[in-house]
Amino acid sequence: MPMLIEVPASSGADIASGAEDRRHMSEQRQRYDYRYREPVEPDWRRFPGWWDVTAAQWRDPQWQRAHCVKNVRQLRATTGDLLDDAFFADLTLDQERSATMSLLLPPHILNTMVPDHVWDTDRLYADPVRRYMLPVASDRHPRWPSHPYATRDSLHEAEMWVREGLTHRYPTKVLAEVVSTCPQYCGHCTRMDLVGPSTPQVTKYRFALKPADRLTGMIEYLRATPGVRDVVVSGGDVANLPWPRLEEFLDRLLEIDSVRDIRLASKALAGLPQHWLGDDVRAGMARVAGVARRRGVGLAVHTHVNAVQQVTPLVAEAARAMLEAGVRDVRNQGVLMDGVNATRQALLDLCFGLLDGAGITPYYFYLCDMIPQSEHWRLSLAEAQRLQDSIMGYLPGFATPRLVCDVPYAGKRWVHQVTDYDRETGISRWTPSFDTTAAGTPEQACHYYDPLHTLPESGRRHWLTATGDDLTPALSAHS
Ligand code: SF4
Repeated sequence: MPMLIEVPASSGADIASGAEDRRHMSEQRQRYDYRYREPVEPDWRRFPGWWDVTAAQWRDPQWQRAHCVKNVRQLRATTGDLLDDAFFADLTLDQERSATMSLLLPPHILNTMVPDHVWDTDRLYADPVRRYMLPVASDRHPRWPSHPYATRDSLHEAEMWVREGLTHRYPTKVLAEVVSTCPQYCGHCTRMDLVGPSTPQVTKYRFALKPADRLTGMIEYLRATPGVRDVVVSGGDVANLPWPRLEEFLDRLLEIDSVRDIRLASKALAGLPQHWLGDDVRAGMARVAGVARRRGVGLAVHTHVNAVQQVTPLVAEAARAMLEAGVRDVRNQGVLMDGVNATRQALLDLCFGLLDGAGITPYYFYLCDMIPQSEHWRLSLAEAQRLQDSIMGYLPGFATPRLVCDVPYAGKRWVHQVTDYDRETGISRWTPSFDTTAAGTPEQACHYYDPLHTLPESGRRHWLTATGDDLTPALSAHS
């Protein structure tokens, strides 16, 4: 672990950051003009493979799941001759050499890329949804694709499993990974260690227990641990657990007196809204929400939207269906990513789109976690702090998202809560406020690291010296 470096007052890092700060202050004073925009469903018939797909088929979750794009061949079949061969070669190279997640794109997600035009190669390359859902080799940083301290399971969640798949990191909250698959796979997935099929570069960890035994183990732990009041039911994506099994698990959770908040994590609300609009799911959610209401338990849905063009009428309808079913709130937890949403304009557009267009509350934006191959997406802590400053005062307070760093062991911290931050090496240190293990919280591990390409030359030299130019993180072992 490199030591924090003392930075002299007149170092290059200070001069560079001073200039950056002045540029930022001048940007900050530029206006953001709010306009209400009605969400629009892009026309899927612009894709040669879907020119004859009816509105009823498009709305059918089974049709969506059966027509997911899972490989380069299927993308070609869908897009016909709209894209250059070079794009497919770029995608193939990424899948073979870099991707930590498999391809899995429901038609609904593909349709939100380049939403206003018939696809062409240049527009697709530049598209923010494409940049994180369909990454290609040329997106990755050519010199530093991974930070030397990037790891699988970068948040050490499996280390904090108290039962298989049940992470007890915070004093009063747990994360229950009830399923290890999703209806869609995001290129930057923080649970790349576990979620989805293996890729040529990443052999995924597999749960050992049978699903029913795993869920029972979680319930038994929660019954025996009354200090836990808040359960995030996640995965993967809960949309991939058959509804009867999810409902049964939720019913068992709701029988535990000490459980007072349940949050269901589903990116599918935005990626496959058809799932949440299904009659069985809506009726089931209404039953569960009724029990939760009678017991005074807060039931909410958390989704994951990173670009305003993903807020379509179908997504809005799915979010409102959940509110009508009786959940207390639908909230968004996005991820800050360069080229996707890392400007004030993009973040405010997204937050207003969620709030006004779909009744979804902007809640968190995370700094992208330190998984391998993520450097081109990641921002420095300083950039995240500036973004947080820049969006203040536009949204209602209850819908002003917190920009957070998910610090290994210490948990989520607002980006201004850092204890020490060395702008030259990009190392930030955070102070834990609780113990995550019986042996205490390993304070020396509570760090976040800025991407190397955002550091001044002296900072980059530090890392090359510290690592002996070996900047390759281990991908093979489950940590
Ligand atoms: S939906 Fe969530 S768990 Fe699934 S791949 Fe995306 S980020 Fe990972």
